[in-house]
Amino acid sequence: MGGGFLDINYVPYVVFIYLCPMSEILKYDKKHVWHPFTQMQTAPDPLVIVKAQDSTLFAEDGKTYLDCNSSWWVNIHGHGNPYLQEALTAQFGEIDHIIFAGATHPKAVELATRIAQLLPGDLEKVFFSDDGSTAVEVALKMVFQYWYNKNEPKKRILALDGAYHGDTFGSMSVSQRGVFNQAFEHLLFEIDFLDFPAQEKEQICLERAEELFQTGEFAALIVEPLVQGSAGMRMYRPRFLDDLCSLAKKYGVLLIFDEIMTGWGRTGKLFALNYVRETPDIVCLSKGLTGGILPLGLTVATHAVYEAFLAPEKTRALLHGHSFTGNALACAVACANLDLMEDPGFFDDIDRISRQHTHFFNRVRQHSKLSDVRQTGTIIALEIREGEGSSYFSGIRDKAYAYFLEHGMLLRPLGNVLFLNPPYCTTDEELEYMYQTIENFLETL
Ligand SMILES: *Cc1c(COP(=O)(O)O)cnc(C)c1O
Repeated sequence: MGGGFLDINYVPYVVFIYLCPMSEILKYDKKHVWHPFTQMQTAPDPLVIVKAQDSTLFAEDGKTYLDCNSSWWVNIHGHGNPYLQEALTAQFGEIDHIIFAGATHPKAVELATRIAQLLPGDLEKVFFSDDGSTAVEVALKMVFQYWYNKNEPKKRILALDGAYHGDTFGSMSVSQRGVFNQAFEHLLFEIDFLDFPAQEKEQICLERAEELFQTGEFAALIVEPLVQGSAGMRMYRPRFLDDLCSLAKKYGVLLIFDEIMTGWGRTGKLFALNYVRETPDIVCLSKGLTGGILPLGLTVATHAVYEAFLAPEKTRALLHGHSFTGNALACAVACANLDLMEDPGFFDDIDRISRQHTHFFNRVRQHSKLSDVRQTGTIIALEIREGEGSSYFSGIRDKAYAYFLEHGMLLRPLGNVLFLNPPYCTTDEELEYMYQTIENFLETL
């Protein structure tokens, strides 16, 4: 690669634009980068983002975009947060990264201790990994080996229709089957799915779950509590979740809460589990864990789960780990993220955004172009009425995505579902702009 390309790192942004009217970045991106969830043959050029600050992304061509979905649902405080930056820089001066088998370090211990304090019950054993998918893989290995170590042959898993728990093989196996995992179907292990618990189906779902649990064959139940992200921000009632969890407890089925998307205030409380009485046996955390600026995953287990791995034999241990387990930079930033969350103003912003969303919800709930509008905390989703039904590849998705880009919003619809889950620093004026632009888009349909 030409040295000129690399040199851009050392040239101030403005000078760079002046010198490179033809985007060098785009040129080399097209030559060498394979983007996620992207048909590289037909996808439009990616945005070339050269700076991110608060809720705004700055493109190389001078355009700006409001980060309506918190950069794939991860960024919670806004970009370029100085407190997180300081924590990252300070940690680099202490420990960058060290092996986490047979060694430990202050920030991992601090993070584990604080997470255990934040979570209810005896959720107190924290296993570190790299991202959401690995946090789910670890949870699955924990439950399968838990029953194996106990010499009880429970192998079935129950999940909800529409589930999304990640892109690795285990996490794909417990996710909705469909176009995303079709090519791998023969490699995924079979699980059981419960119908999505829409309000009128709650009773049937509970009866079905009980029927399944009565077989005594179920190792675990895994849920995205209250909001299913990838399925189109589908929401269900805390009451149902509580009843389902009670059933799992009654039949000794381990309960996994995938809080990867719902955690960190997204649903209006710190975690979605704060809406229910039952305590899960395992909680998966990632995305906003570091404020969304570094990859890190945590799988938190109760003492009872952990205990099943204790024995004189090494083979009873959880023989799992990643090179970057307990990465010190990520842990330090996650601790700083918790500091920010302990600030009283943290929930003020969450409450403010939730209130604004509710006003908007009332504004559009009867809209003729919408078949459904739903909100949980800082997440609001609008389902566009259309003939062919909801699907990720629905034509309306591309049209909407392009429209919002044109109007300075990075909003990635899920099929025909438009949704907002912005960073908490997003101002009322920015929110109003998003709402107005969405309404304007609906008028074009
Ligand atoms: C994003 C997500 C995952 C996967 O996390 P990655 O970091 O993308 O691997 C798993 N579960 C839920 C609920 C998610 O939203």
